[in-house]
Amino acid sequence: MDEFWADIPEQFYSDAEGKPFEKCVVCGKDLLIDGTQYVIEKAMKNYEGYDFSSTVFEYAMCMDCYAEMQKGMSEESMLRLQQYYQNFMEQRGNQPLTINLHTFDVNEWLSKCFFKEKPVKEMKEFQLIGQFNGKHMVLNTPPMAIGEEVMEEMAELMSEKTKGEMDRFRKEFLGPPPEIEELIYGRKLFLL
Ligand SMILES: [Zn+2]
Repeated sequence: MDEFWADIPEQFYSDAEGKPFEKCVVCGKDLLIDGTQYVIEKAMKNYEGYDFSSTVFEYAMCMDCYAEMQKGMSEESMLRLQQYYQNFMEQRGNQPLTINLHTFDVNEWLSKCFFKEKPVKEMKEFQLIGQFNGKHMVLNTPPMAIGEEVMEEMAELMSEKTKGEMDRFRKEFLGPPPEIEELIYGRKLFLL
């Protein structure tokens, strides 16, 4: 299948650098070479009364390392997350996800929780996840904003073993500041 590409939107730039991520956080591989598949995940926080969100956590990871991280998930956790997504699709009447490439507006698309459609502006926390290839965002697996409610529901679906593995992996490579542990640790987003 052809890949559909868009420019990397600023939401997926490295906040620390103010430009696209250049290296895999785990193995250091160059990401901006076309043909290099990778994932970017960011955790965002809003401040009540301010129209402003800040990045509390961000990384880019090549697909090889991402697959390695996913091995830390128990089969049970993986199945439950898949079930979560299937239920969501059934609720939507199993309509395939479609993006009109001519009118696709990434700001609009990422302004609402992918699952619940609640505006992320109204949340304390949310996450952004997307798939990329070199200097492009891949639209075949569209980027998602995931709201705090869904983050919690997903965390509940994961076994303690899986949460422990994810924590270990993230601590080893990402070492985020302690204030955000509650938000991030033990959560796993999945690419579909
Ligand atoms: Zn890597």
